Amino acid sequence: MLGTLRTHENTRRIERLIAMNRAKILGVTVSRQGERIIAAVRVAVARPQQAGVAQSDSTVGIDVGVRRLATVATTSEVIGELANPRALEHRLAELRRLQCQRARRTRGSRQYLETAATITRLHAQVAHLRRHTIHVVTTTLAKTHGVVVVEGLDAASLLQQKGLSGARSRRRGLSDAALGEIRRQLRYKCPWYGSRSIEADRFFPSSKTCHTCGHVQDIGWSEHWTCEECLSSHQRDDNAAINLARWAGLGSVGAPVKRGAERQTESHSAAGDDTRKGSPTPVGSNNSVRSAA
Ligand SMILES: [Zn+2]
Repeated sequence: MLGTLRTHENTRRIERLIAMNRAKILGVTVSRQGERIIAAVRVAVARPQQAGVAQSDSTVGIDVGVRRLATVATTSEVIGELANPRALEHRLAELRRLQCQRARRTRGSRQYLETAATITRLHAQVAHLRRHTIHVVTTTLAKTHGVVVVEGLDAASLLQQKGLSGARSRRRGLSDAALGEIRRQLRYKCPWYGSRSIEADRFFPSSKTCHTCGHVQDIGWSEHWTCEECLSSHQRDDNAAINLARWAGLGSVGAPVKRGAERQTESHSAAGDDTRKGSPTPVGSNNSVRSAA
């Protein structure tokens, strides 16, 4: 009923696959995201078997964090730190500024609507940037390492603390969403390349277990901490990534005990809930929908 659509993005790849009889279009969904109209084409593609994993005997742990997007470590050392892209940081700062600006304006006024439109556009850009970055990360991981360990379901939400305010809770929400998405993508990409993704037990205390001696202690939100037992000092994300890599070897054998206190799963704010479940499109829709209305 819509007839011919002109697309912004190049469709040659799909056309070629169809011409070679390797792909079939199942349907097209047209939706609006902020100010853009998006046509999502569902295709069934015959994937040729991919070449093997580069380092099939390597096992890595991935910590998805608030400060950095991800930390990659083997069972003994950190081998990669991935910062959030600059462009993303810029937009997040701009977003905060504009949200304050909108709050100062009269609801429904021309200026209010202008700011709201800009916010919507920024939200979409942020969502796309993050999605792109995460795709690059997961593809690289799946192609390179034999085993990739990430935090299991809900591990991130367990860390969420009540009363965490402002920027930090927003960052937390972002990293939770990133974790959910990374986990989801690894699940389907690893089998493509012949690697394996493992999700650590949700109660595995990867951040607060000393990777030198195994001592577990409460570290709160500190980025740097010193083990009470063996006095080695740790950077939170580095330590967590190493512990996660070791989880692959631990399996369920050394499953850590459940420890009470901060372990209520249910009572969390809606902040990142939908995306944390690994929904396919972690778009910053919560806010943009409101401002677009
Ligand atoms: Zn220690």
